[in-house]
Order: sequence, then structure tokens, then C-alpha cells
Amino acid sequence: MIDQLTIDKIMSAAKIEEVVGEYVSLHRRGVNLKGLCPFHSEKTPSFVVSPSKGICHCFGCGKGGNPVNFIMEIEQVNYYEALKMLAKKYGIEVEERELTDEQKAQRSEREALFAANEFARDYFADILTNNAEGRSVGLTYFRERGINDASIKTFQLGYSLSEKDAFTKEALKKGFSKEYLVKTGLTLDNEFGVVDRFRGRVIYPVQTISGKVVAFGGRILKKSDKLAKYVNSPESEIYHKSDQLYGIYQAKQDIVRNDRCYLVEGYMDVISMHQSGIKNVVASSGTSLTTGQIRLIHRFTNNVTVLYDGDAAGIHASIRGIDMLLAEGMNIKVVSLPNGEDPDSYSQTHNADETVAFLENNAVDFLKFKTQLLMADAGNDPIKRAQLIQDIVKSISVIPDTITRAVYVRECSRMMEIEEAMLFNEIDRIRLNQSTQEQKEAERQRLVEQLKERERKASATTTTTAAPEPKKAANPYFREEADLIKFIIRYGALYLFTDEDGNWVSAVDFIKRDLEIDNITFKDTAFQKLFAAAYEHCQSPENCVPYGSVFADETSFAKLEDKAAFYANAEVELEKLSRFLFNNSDYEVSQTATNIGIEKYHLSKSQKEQYGQNYHRLRDDLLTLTRALKYKVLLSAISEVKAEIQIADKEHDEQKRKALFEKYQQLNKAKGILYKEKVYIPKNK
Ligand SMILES: [Zn+2]
Repeated sequence: MIDQLTIDKIMSAAKIEEVVGEYVSLHRRGVNLKGLCPFHSEKTPSFVVSPSKGICHCFGCGKGGNPVNFIMEIEQVNYYEALKMLAKKYGIEVEERELTDEQKAQRSEREALFAANEFARDYFADILTNNAEGRSVGLTYFRERGINDASIKTFQLGYSLSEKDAFTKEALKKGFSKEYLVKTGLTLDNEFGVVDRFRGRVIYPVQTISGKVVAFGGRILKKSDKLAKYVNSPESEIYHKSDQLYGIYQAKQDIVRNDRCYLVEGYMDVISMHQSGIKNVVASSGTSLTTGQIRLIHRFTNNVTVLYDGDAAGIHASIRGIDMLLAEGMNIKVVSLPNGEDPDSYSQTHNADETVAFLENNAVDFLKFKTQLLMADAGNDPIKRAQLIQDIVKSISVIPDTITRAVYVRECSRMMEIEEAMLFNEIDRIRLNQSTQEQKEAERQRLVEQLKERERKASATTTTTAAPEPKKAANPYFREEADLIKFIIRYGALYLFTDEDGNWVSAVDFIKRDLEIDNITFKDTAFQKLFAAAYEHCQSPENCVPYGSVFADETSFAKLEDKAAFYANAEVELEKLSRFLFNNSDYEVSQTATNIGIEKYHLSKSQKEQYGQNYHRLRDDLLTLTRALKYKVLLSAISEVKAEIQIADKEHDEQKRKALFEKYQQLNKAKGILYKEKVYIPKNK
């Protein structure tokens, strides 16, 4: 659907560190960047981004790849959607061919749901500013609440007319199908016919971390006993409430910048604080935080400040969610606002500096806060006090860091007037229990992942954009082929040999010639494709790496720095082909390259530290690899012939037996030659 030229443009514009940086807070580590993996829960960063190679990789869960792979994974979109998102980010116009009816039907459901939401967002925003009712009801409300035009734009606020089906009619007219309008929850289809879910409400779109609209919140303005004050989109294919935080899209950069996230309760709290200049603020819009939401925050910071209304009755209920923040190893502070104030009202009446000063001066460590709160509740009642101790001990026990735990034990023992030893005992007991539970949970999680993966694979066969799976079981040479592919990804473009005429031959060209002698081709179709792409690429001399830029007479270096610089440059030269493959516009090639190339790829260890000593073995290494494949092919040919001889024996077919035996001897001789050439013989698995 997108032409090749545009794909190439997108691929070369997309910078991996910029793409990943929108989702993960990255820190420089030498030539690479590091951050917490967005794909699995972790407390120490193992997600590495290599700007020079244009790829990212998690050493914990193995996920990653080029910018397109990354977007596909994190946004859960298909190849084309990912390309389009990147095109949008880099201002590249996508020349999309007119869709046929069939292709339209094939557009994924997710895409259709997002399109419906996007339309709704624009429609509601337009009504708010350009429609008489929208202005007199919706806009007036926001104005009264002190929300200015800039905030309305930033948060894409809107209004849905009170007419029963004004929105749905308009959407249907614009060609959106009822099915998707209902699935997003924008439209209700019930015994009263088709009805707009958000009719007569101001609209707060809920955006993902990358700004896509997944849901809406609608607040009623009329006083009514029958109608709920807030209505939200239902869960859908694209909306999982527990994984979203209101305001994260607008807040993420400021969370990183300030290394702190403010956590509030409602939409208006977020918008007002943002408007007053405190932009690192999000709302959980629920009573209790979920792990998905916590993980979202943790990608950007370790520091969370929770804001409570002065008269908060819900503090107790929300404490459980905060215990989960502790378990994730975050530092949590709590601020109670003065009586009668909420974050919305407070930031409306104070400027940003005043608000920040108040928050900083009044922030209390969460566990101290909790202890104080519970102590006040318990008074001198011994049963309540025992409960309190258990409660606090439980909170402390989830903290992953030993030293932090010890600090808290000291603090709480002082506050509650209980010996430290007793608290430690209790904590040990709970932690012991927990770890077995965690093991069970991890076990369960692994099983779920396996099932999901299997499902994904099963459904992948029906879609054209699915990742190719290496056919491990069916291909007896998979390991040998994969080793060769790994070599190609890294050194394929290097001029390693010369032919009889003295012309340079690149490694990938050599492999082709060497395997052709014995009539061997890659069995794995994905490898075939990658191999062909690499070969084609290296047909142009400007894509190849001259021998002299990698090999050098080491005595010629005057200084050690010169040597290091030379080999650092060699590294960059060699990356030309791997960059081409990792970021290949053919999805299958890039996927195979990342799958195969990345693991042994030295993402963290810089080659220059080794001063290129490896390069001198490259010719031998390559010969070893091609021979290993040849050897394996020979072995299976031999065992095949053996089996055929046995059959011929049984059938007393003397002629056939003789012919086969000759073949057998030839093969064995070839094997002998391979032996004599003294090469690496693969160990039996
Ligand atoms: Zn990971």
C-alpha cells in the first residue's frame, strides 16, 4: 500500500534513539543508550539502543529491532501502520495507493477503531468551538473552570451535542461503519435505536503515550440524578483502561526533564496543573493504580508524588495502589492539599512556582505518611495497633532494595515504638512467602506468554505482514546457516579475498561462489531472501568495505590512540551492511536480520577495545563456517545413501546397490578431504 520509495525515505529518516526516546527514558552509556525495557517489567535497565546501528534490543526479554519493529511491538500495530506513524513523526508524506474494496476490508480492525476515534475527537473539538450549543454549553463550562484555549487545544477537549444521535449520524455520513462506532463505544445500539454515548457531555480524549486516541471521558453538565456525572469509553480492542494514564502523552517529556511524576485523580486536575506550568502530571482516573500504569510511569522516572485532596476520604482505598509503586522500587512521596482544595482548585489560585514550592515543602515520604495516618486511626486500641503494624510491615516488605528496607524499618520502629528486630522478623517471614508466590506467578506468566505466542504464530500464517519464523525443526542445517547469516550481517560487505584476476571479492560474494561449487543453497527461505538482498547490495563497490580500512600493519601506528581510532572507523565501515539489513525496507529481511544478527551482535562491547585483533582471523572463520555447512550437508547425504543401500540390499537389487555404494565412497572421500583441510568439525548436538 505504501510505495518502495516512501518506505526507503521513512527508513532513512527514522532515528532509533528518537523513536525509542518517546517511550523510554534513555541514558547514555558510552556509544549506546540504555533504559528500562518497555516490554517487560524490570528494575534495572537492560534495554539498549544503538544509534549507529539503528537498532534497539532488550537483553532481558529479547525484544527490539529497528524503528519499525519497535513501533509495531510497542503500539501493537502492523507493519503499514508502523510505517505510517513514523512517516507522520518525520513529516514524510505517504503516497498511498488508492485502496481497493478488498484492501479496505483487510484494513485491520484496530486501524478502523483508531480512525473512528480520531474522527470523533476532531468532530467533538469542532463542535466545541464552532457550534452554537457547543459554545454556549461546552465552551462556557471550560471557561468557567478557568481552562484557556491553549489547554483546550493541548488536551483536544470537545463537546458532544445533546441531540440523541448527532455524532453517529455525522460519522455514518462520513462513511464510518456502525460496527466500529459501536465497538469503540462511541455509539450505543440498543432498544432505543442508535444513540450517542457521550451526548450532552464535554469530552476528554484519552491518549496513549504516543498520542493516539484510545478512549474518551465525558462529563455531564446538567444536574441529573439519573445520569452518571462521568461516562467513559468501554474496554475495546484498542482500549485497556488499566494500561492507560490520562495526560501521559502531554507529560512524558516533562516527567523525564524533572525526573518526577505528579499523580492526581481527575482530568481537570491534570489540565489545570498543566496550564499553571506544572506539566509532569498524570491521572490514574480510577481508585487504585494498576501495574500497567505504574510501569508506564516507571519508564520515565523513579520518583512519584501523589497528590491528595485535603479532605480525602479515599486515601485508604488508594493506599494499596501505592504499595504497588513501592514494590516496583519507586520513591514515593505524598502531599495532602489544604482542606477543601484539590489539585485543580489549588493550581488555579496559585502560580507554578508557588504550587511547586508548596508540593516540595509538604511532600512526606509515603510510608511515614501511611504510618502516621494509621496510627491516628488506631489510637491506643491494641487490636488496631497490631493490624497497623502488620499493614506497615507488609508495605516495607515489598520494597526491593535491602538498604531502603532497613532505613524504613528503623524509621517505623521509632514511630510505632516497636523493636527493629521484631519488624525484621516479620518482614523476613512475609518476603519468604512472597517469593514462592512470585515464582508461581512467574511460572503462570511464562505459560500465558507461551500460549499467546502460539496463538500469534497460528494467526500469523493468515496475514501477509507477519514475521517469518525460522523453520528450525524442518531444516537440519539451520544452525550452520544461521552462523553464516550472522557472519554476513557483520562482515558480508568486507573485501576479504581476491579472485584469479586479482579483483576483490566481498565476503558475501565469496560465500555465494563457495557454496555454488557444491551446489548448496540456503534451505531456510528467510535466509535465502536476506542472502540475496545482501549479495545484491554488495554488487555495488561503494557499498563494500575495502580491505585496507579494516586490516592494517599495526606497526604503522604511532600512538595507541591512532590504532583505536583506526579500528573504531573500521567498525563504522563494517556497519554499513548491517544497517542496510536491519533497516531493510523488506520487512522479512529486516526481521530475519534482527532475529539472527542481534544476539551475538556486540551491542554493548565496543570492538575498538579489542583493537581489531579479531579481523585477522576472519578468512579462517569464514572458511570454517562454509565448511561446517558443507560437512553437515555431506553427513546427511551419506546417511541418506546408507539408508538407500539398505533398501537395495533387501530388494537384492545388485546394480542399484553398486551405484549407491560408489556414491557412498565418493561422499566419504569428500568428507575425508574436508577433514584433511583441517577445519572445524561441528560437535554432535
Ligand atoms: Zn525486555
